[in-house]
Amino acid sequence: MIQLEIPKRARALIAQAHQVGEAVFRPISRKYDTAEHTYAKELDMLAALMDGMAQGGQGGGVNDVAQAREDDSGGKKKKRGNNLQTLLGMVELCWGDAGLALTIPRQGLGNAAVAAVASPDQKERWGNVWAAMAITEPGAGSDSAAIRTTAHLEGDEWVLNGEKIFVTAGERATGIVVWATLDKNLGRAAIKSFFVPQGSPGMRLVRLDHKMGIRASDTAVIEFVNCRIPKDNILGSAEIDTKKGFGGVMQTFDNTRPLVGGMAIGVARASLEVIQGMLEKAGLHSSYEGTPWTQPAALAEVYRMEAELEASRLLVMKAAWLADHGIPNSKEASMAKAKAGRTGTYVTLRAVELAGDAGYAQNELLEKWARDSKILDIFEGTQQIQLLIVARAVLGLKSTHLR
Ligand SMILES: Cc1cc2nc3c(=O)[nH]c(=O)nc-3n(C[C@H](O)[C@H](O)[C@H](O)COP(=O)(O)OP(=O)(O)OC[C@H]3O[C@@H](n4cnc5c(N)ncnc54)[C@H](O)[C@@H]3O)c2cc1C
Repeated sequence: MIQLEIPKRARALIAQAHQVGEAVFRPISRKYDTAEHTYAKELDMLAALMDGMAQGGQGGGVNDVAQAREDDSGGKKKKRGNNLQTLLGMVELCWGDAGLALTIPRQGLGNAAVAAVASPDQKERWGNVWAAMAITEPGAGSDSAAIRTTAHLEGDEWVLNGEKIFVTAGERATGIVVWATLDKNLGRAAIKSFFVPQGSPGMRLVRLDHKMGIRASDTAVIEFVNCRIPKDNILGSAEIDTKKGFGGVMQTFDNTRPLVGGMAIGVARASLEVIQGMLEKAGLHSSYEGTPWTQPAALAEVYRMEAELEASRLLVMKAAWLADHGIPNSKEASMAKAKAGRTGTYVTLRAVELAGDAGYAQNELLEKWARDSKILDIFEGTQQIQLLIVARAVLGLKSTHLR
């Protein structure tokens, strides 16, 4: 039976993540929003702390998320709860600052890909390095099947050619998980992911992009011209199984979409708390007696924001819970991301409006959170794409029939 209570074993981690959000992120939040592209050295200490937690078996990092799978004896994996735990930790970190949370060393989206599809030997090698994720290209965003970056085998090396844009942590990460096609004629089944160590011959950082939000996070354009990597740097099998389609690589999204939904919830909750505090100071105290229609309009709006946030929270928890129990969750992961992404932008922008001039000025972080939250409704699949995936799942249609 599905259980959406916060598990006891996650409580310490949530408290620690909240403390980091409050004591480490919040004080430097504005500084690194303004000093875009400057690495926040304060995070080195945090990375060491997270490594310690992982070694101590506490988990809770992005490199710890994966679908529960059957073990060799046919039983389910004993260790469960990593997706949910990581999600709940991520909510708290992003309550502190989403851009900084994306900049914690060794917690990149590529780490989730390694966790989802790498072999045990590869996990040993790259499970604890900092891995960014490079799917998007100038001509391939939402339609990731359209990617043009190629990979072909030459002797003992893969040779990669193409350009990737919007690579989060693309400059700072130790390696990049790059999606490339082995054969453009074979469609999505031929798309594989590769671990490309930073500084590989033929790999070049073209530029860092200036952005509206999450400005503490570096977003890179990277070019690959005859970039050579060892043969065993392919994640998963090199075999092209046209029946399976995207298969392996898409598993990553089932784990990361609920996390991004959780990030949106963290930012939105931060905004909601601040606006509630402001309303209290103005003499408007929340009271859940009676209907919203009998209350001041500003409070009725706050109750609506709270309800949206709670609905989003339950959906992301459900998607993560399913992953932890080895139950297919693609539809739920997309539902959760769509709902939480939309709620994030709604709540943060509404808080700016309700706060009046204090909402738009930089004295408060409300305007920053409204900027930060938009990306959480875009990357890892936009709002519209999530709804498309849900519609396909509900109607039983393939991507060729509903696009
Ligand atoms: C700050 C930032 C960080 C990022 N980090 C990463 C990263 O680390 N790695 C990575 O690979 N990518 C990353 N991305 C890229 C991100 O995933 C893409 O921007 C996103 O997938 C959308 O692709 P696009 O921008 O090309 O938009 P497009 O695909 O061109 O879409 C444009 C608009 O059309 C809508 N649309 C497209 N197709 C349909 C359809 N079939 N039906 C209805 N509406 C549709 C979209 O929802 C969107 O609103 C990042 C982007 C940003 C801005």
